[in-house]
Amino acid sequence: MSSRIISFRPAAQLWRRLPLQCKRHSNRGCLLNRLHASLDPRQLMGVYWDELRQLLGMEGLRWEHQGLCQQAQLGLQQGWLRVYRLFLGDQDLGELALSRSAPLQERELLLLEQTLDLLIQPLHNAVLYQQALAAALRDPLTGLGNRAAFEQALLQELELACRHGMPLSLALLDIDHFKEINDNHGHLAGDAVLTHVAAAIRGQARQSDLLFRYAGDEFVILMRHTGRLGACTVAERIRRAVERQPFSHAERELPVRLSIGVATADPRESADGLFERADRALLAAKRSGRNRIHWAEPLAAECRVHA
Ligand code: GH3
Ligand code: MG
Repeated sequence: MSSRIISFRPAAQLWRRLPLQCKRHSNRGCLLNRLHASLDPRQLMGVYWDELRQLLGMEGLRWEHQGLCQQAQLGLQQGWLRVYRLFLGDQDLGELALSRSAPLQERELLLLEQTLDLLIQPLHNAVLYQQALAAALRDPLTGLGNRAAFEQALLQELELACRHGMPLSLALLDIDHFKEINDNHGHLAGDAVLTHVAAAIRGQARQSDLLFRYAGDEFVILMRHTGRLGACTVAERIRRAVERQPFSHAERELPVRLSIGVATADPRESADGLFERADRALLAAKRSGRNRIHWAEPLAAECRVHA
């Protein structure tokens, strides 16, 4: 079921050129209103899909936007397939694959493309909105999630871990003597160290780990389905990779080292509680000599100590 990809840009005059005989034509404004009601591309595709099923008996819809890492899949892809690459001006709006067991007749194709015309502007709004949301949650220097993204993700992941009874670990990483790099070699060298460390974290973390730059020279990794052993293994791999990967600036090799605090979530503690335990473990790693990992005592043991 292969199909060439057709670039689709809206043709504003199409509706005037070919008035629809279909009684649903009068519903054009209504469809537009429903499409404009959401800035979530997946919800929007749901609305569009309902329309296509009723109007043309379509059986499958798949939309994917690679830049946004978002997709929607409705029905089953089978039989006749048409793939559109949607644009408004230079803005890529993703790839839309539509299918039906029986091929569409020429008139049905025109109808389909008329509905695409209606989809484009609301989809454009939704894609721009999602891009703005994604930018607001990204650290521009390293491309990792920023602190706001981390705070959102931590609440979500704690709730999921609690609901499914799965472990969740948090590693807090801080570059050792980073201020000296800034002071001795300048802020551009400091920035280059930050991107170097972010790349090492990306390279060593697993697909399921969530990566953030928390602030300044501090990074956070949220590790799903991961208890103490797994979290310490990942953290140690990152610490060692940073220690071993040479970093050069202005033809001079600069040592870059990390201290890491690791804590595994306890269902009884809050997001702040988990972060504070990781932070205390990081402080312990700094105080005991830096360039090392410290694991936070479990909550129960800490409670006993403080009782
Ligand atoms: P320690 O080993 O105890 O962590 O010492 P440190 O020198 O790394 O101290 P600290 O973590 O407090 O240093 C953070 C420094 O990071 C201070 C601040 O000037 C610098 N910083 C924060 N954000 C940026 C940034 O975006 N770029 C650069 N180049 N420096 C930054
Ligand atoms: Mg530091």
